[in-house]
Amino acid sequence: MNCPFCGSENSRVVDSRYVRDQNSTRRRRRCDDCERRFTTYERIEMRLPAVVKRDGRREAFDINKIRAGVEVACSKRPVPVDRIDALLAGIERHFMDSTEREVTTERVGETVLGHLRTLDEVACVRFASVYREFTDVRQFLTELEALQGAQGR
Ligand SMILES: [Zn+2]
Repeated sequence: MNCPFCGSENSRVVDSRYVRDQNSTRRRRRCDDCERRFTTYERIEMRLPAVVKRDGRREAFDINKIRAGVEVACSKRPVPVDRIDALLAGIERHFMDSTEREVTTERVGETVLGHLRTLDEVACVRFASVYREFTDVRQFLTELEALQGAQGR
């Protein structure tokens, strides 16, 4: 990345942040030679896997659906909005980084649960009950028992 002021090839990144609405990463750089600062934007290539539903149909990976589920699970819980944003960004990154072309809804759900567990245990159990739709009650109970066990320690 050449400096736009002096053409030097030596610059370092001083700040880097994801710009959600542009789906790009904004980087502030500082030229090692003239010490001036400039900004670059790198577009992130979206390579999210397709989601295979229980009935075998495929649909596009939709972080907004996951957000809706997470927000319901977190309602009236002491979870700040920016923590939810960070959680969703982490989930999205997880699937962007994966090399798989498609994932099952179960895998998506388990990944969300894994992330949610670190955020709020009640929200985690709620999400588990919603996404599994109680079709697998035993798994839900196992989840609950694991949580109660963890709290009892
Ligand atoms: Zn320069």
